[in-house]
Amino acid sequence: MGFTFHCRHFINGQFVESGERFTNINPATEEELGWVAEGGREEIDRAVQAAKRALKGEWGKYSIHDRIAVIRRIGDLILERKEEFARLESLDTGKPYSLSAHLDIPRAAYNFHFFADYLHSVGTESYQMDSGQFHYAIRRPVGVVGLINPWNLPLLLLTWKMAPALAMGNTIVAKPAELTPMTATLLAEVMKDAGLPDGVVNIVHGFGPHSAGQFLTEHPDVNAISFTGETHTGKTIMAAAAKSLKRLSFELGGKNPNIIFSDADLDDVIETTIKSSFSNQGEVCLAGSRIYVQRPIYNQFLERFVERTKQLVVGDPFDSKTDVGALISKEHLERVSGYLDIARSEGRILVGGKRPQGLEKGYYLEPTIIVDVDDQCRVVKEEIFGPVACVLPFDTEEEVIARANDSDYGLSATIWTSDLKRAHRVAHQIESGVVWVNTWFLRDLRTPFGGMKHSGIGREGGAHSIDFYSELTNITVKL
Ligand code: NAD
Repeated sequence: MGFTFHCRHFINGQFVESGERFTNINPATEEELGWVAEGGREEIDRAVQAAKRALKGEWGKYSIHDRIAVIRRIGDLILERKEEFARLESLDTGKPYSLSAHLDIPRAAYNFHFFADYLHSVGTESYQMDSGQFHYAIRRPVGVVGLINPWNLPLLLLTWKMAPALAMGNTIVAKPAELTPMTATLLAEVMKDAGLPDGVVNIVHGFGPHSAGQFLTEHPDVNAISFTGETHTGKTIMAAAAKSLKRLSFELGGKNPNIIFSDADLDDVIETTIKSSFSNQGEVCLAGSRIYVQRPIYNQFLERFVERTKQLVVGDPFDSKTDVGALISKEHLERVSGYLDIARSEGRILVGGKRPQGLEKGYYLEPTIIVDVDDQCRVVKEEIFGPVACVLPFDTEEEVIARANDSDYGLSATIWTSDLKRAHRVAHQIESGVVWVNTWFLRDLRTPFGGMKHSGIGREGGAHSIDFYSELTNITVKL
């Protein structure tokens, strides 16, 4: 295909290399996309020092108006280069170009536009005491913040953290996922073109353990880490960050229940469940991967769900007919396939479970539905992070709430019912940070987003992001 894109670090406003490089692979073709500079302790330290200096430089003197203007400009420039960003995102991840162009990239731009607008109305508290003394709080940046991201929604999730961090005047060292370094590199160009002062945003490529990720979490001059990724990685980062007592925000894994009651609108259920199971190849932390269906409609649901799943087109991310692209890597395809072997012994694969015919190259997998498994099976308990959904029958409301909550995770849940009272009743009892009723993935960036239990620590979004990325000082005045 002749495409090449090399990824250098972006440190103190300059694109720089380091001694080591690794190869970036296109998961849809298994061809090389280019090389990526591999950062280590030295690159992380240079980036952190640049970010530290930038806090005290021109950026530190920016008025709120100036910050709003530059954040807005970054969003505008992403939109101006939307096609370029979307192409790189699909080449890197294997996701359909239509998804990159309609979801990932517009949302990345919107993350900046949203927080530029939001900043106008960010305030603090103030209290007056009977005796006339009063208190007011001011916000200051936390300092240098480290952003560590996964590969499934690379630009969307990076900018979800970056925009509020900049809004609050912090400086940033970001470590994109090693499998998807391209859009972060292009974003660095946008930062330069938007006129952001040098050192405010730094990007260091590399791996996690014993590499850029670990060195970032251990660096004593990094004040906060916002991490999105696997639960296990979160635990490692928490331990590393404890040594210098960093502020942490974690958005981790999920094994999210979809609860479908018999009185739900089945047309709506089917179309949305197809999306919540298989969009982005199921590589979505919010994917509904445990589908509980009330017994009276179980067979009917399954029949229609299977029929729609068979219609999904798996293939070339750049073909407009494609619904499901390639999985991120060979290792990930093998990991997901390992779960399918477990499913074959613990239960039954009703549809899918194979490499699609005619696709010799690329890490493709047919959308897969698993049935006849019980709640203790590994495929029902563990996050698979691929196009794989387990469907399980249930009888009563009480029973399904208990089964939905019987999980270490608590990220999101979807409830399908026409009974308003039941919808609220169940939503109040589900142990997850996000509950959707009769919908899925409907987001409003003002709302708290994050998980309970092993799905995360803290919430981001609107005021929650502002709180995470700012330090409050309360000032008491005696009159
Ligand atoms: P991962 O945890 O393997 O990697 C995420 C990032 O952490 C990468 O940049 C990686 O290099 C880095 N990393 C790995 N080990 C590290 C270490 N020891 N120290 C510092 N950094 C380290 O996750 P992944 O496989 O890239 O992403 C998939 C996971 O992300 C899934 O579990 C998914 O549910 C989760 N996720 C959660 C959300 C959410 O909002 N809750 C969103 C998207 C993805």
